[in-house]
Amino acid sequence: MESGGNSLLSGADGSKRKVCYFYDPEVGNYYYGQGHPMKPHRMRMTHALLTHYGLLQNMHVLKPNPAREKDLCRFHADDYVSFLRRITPETQQDQLRQLKRFNVGEDCPVFDGLYSFCQTYAGGSIGGAVKLNHGHCDIAINWAGGLHHAKKCEASGFCYVNDIVLAILELLKTHERVLYVDIDIHHGDGVEEAFYVTDRVMTVSFHKFGDYFPGTGDIRDLGYGKGKYYALNVPLDDGIDDESYQSLFKPVMSKVMEVFRPGAVVLQCGADSLSGDRLGCFNLSVKGHAECVRFMRSFDVPLLLLGGGGYTIRNVARCWCYETGVALGIEVDDKVPQHEYIEYFGPDYTLHVSPSNMENKNSRELLEVIRAELLRNLSKLQHAPSVQFHDRPPDTQLPEVDEDEEDKDERKYHDSDVNVDCERNSSPSRVKMEFVEPATNNKKDEEAVDELAMKIESTLEPTTSKGSMAAAEEDGPRCVEPEKEKDPSAEINPQPPLDEPTEMDHH
Ligand SMILES: [Zn+2]
Repeated sequence: MESGGNSLLSGADGSKRKVCYFYDPEVGNYYYGQGHPMKPHRMRMTHALLTHYGLLQNMHVLKPNPAREKDLCRFHADDYVSFLRRITPETQQDQLRQLKRFNVGEDCPVFDGLYSFCQTYAGGSIGGAVKLNHGHCDIAINWAGGLHHAKKCEASGFCYVNDIVLAILELLKTHERVLYVDIDIHHGDGVEEAFYVTDRVMTVSFHKFGDYFPGTGDIRDLGYGKGKYYALNVPLDDGIDDESYQSLFKPVMSKVMEVFRPGAVVLQCGADSLSGDRLGCFNLSVKGHAECVRFMRSFDVPLLLLGGGGYTIRNVARCWCYETGVALGIEVDDKVPQHEYIEYFGPDYTLHVSPSNMENKNSRELLEVIRAELLRNLSKLQHAPSVQFHDRPPDTQLPEVDEDEEDKDERKYHDSDVNVDCERNSSPSRVKMEFVEPATNNKKDEEAVDELAMKIESTLEPTTSKGSMAAAEEDGPRCVEPEKEKDPSAEINPQPPLDEPTEMDHH
């Protein structure tokens, strides 16, 4: 496969990048339950490959600080987060209404350590954003993150908290515009929804479309209000191969980079788009999948690489190991080194596996039509919007800020601001549904949508106005559902300040 490169920069591809890699040695121990396809063990397998290929020495290895309740509440509703914090396999039978309300129980089961699992994977993505914001690295990696389906007050598609939305909110403290790219086989619905009406975040999702989870991601869904044309959906069919995929990915992403000019890029590298995935139906090779990483890296913009789906776990580990090599500019050997999980990689013990001979249902003609429509939509995006940064919000996870009394007040102030983010970011979910469904798209809805769009718009302004703070006090983040069970035990524990992520021993 051609290594590509892009029209904006040349020669950047070969140069080295400083990489921060987030990994918690506990993450592989979380277990969704017997028969559940989502297996956090795949992150441990990936880490073992990185270790034995000798890649850890080439990057900064960090153990993520667990995201705190207030970090999660920057996007998620307070009552949803508090539910996640309290629910256990033992107590879930007494919480049937709450389970149903938050969509927890089936695809998204309650398991031991659920909340700390969420804190860990979200902590890695937010930590990666902080590192990028500080310029401590060019690329940050968190393979445990990328859980793109989670909603403001609802779990969905094996995802509980949306670490991607949280990381993007962190990046927006420093960057005027953030680009989100999603190559998981499933539509990146949770992230799209969160930023549907803003032009500061552009979302681009490549996914299987048509009778497939989660059902959203039509090419005609483009964003709304100020966010119109800042959401892009690339609907694909079964059996897409490397060449077909790149025939869309490269021209579309080149154009996006040219017109949107993001300050940072978040790439969700869901590996269920690989050939032979237990839940997927695409036919990409590891190299074809990694070509997306290589291509986005070539623009030399701060890059956050996240995991996502991926259910044939030996291939997930292959893919994310190879992509870590791509991030570092190191071509890893095809021969899998001897290590504790070597038996997963038999009978050939190679990193690369051949795609299958399945039919590619994406005809050249269809791909051409899709490409033309996407480029037409992109041509309507006139220029990159800019924001004035009068007063940059403080970073998450900087304990030294607490030592200064003045800064402490400032942080409190910004926390209220941040809650506004949460409230306003939540709205597009309903907005979008109303807008997409022609049946409910009446005048009244449009007015409501306009109002919400304005609210979200002012939320993302980095400068806080008195008005928006007042709004935050009035409508704190909480779920739409009216039924509220008062739980006297639900008081929030005081959270100790987070430390800088701990540097890990390489072995
Ligand atoms: Zn997926």
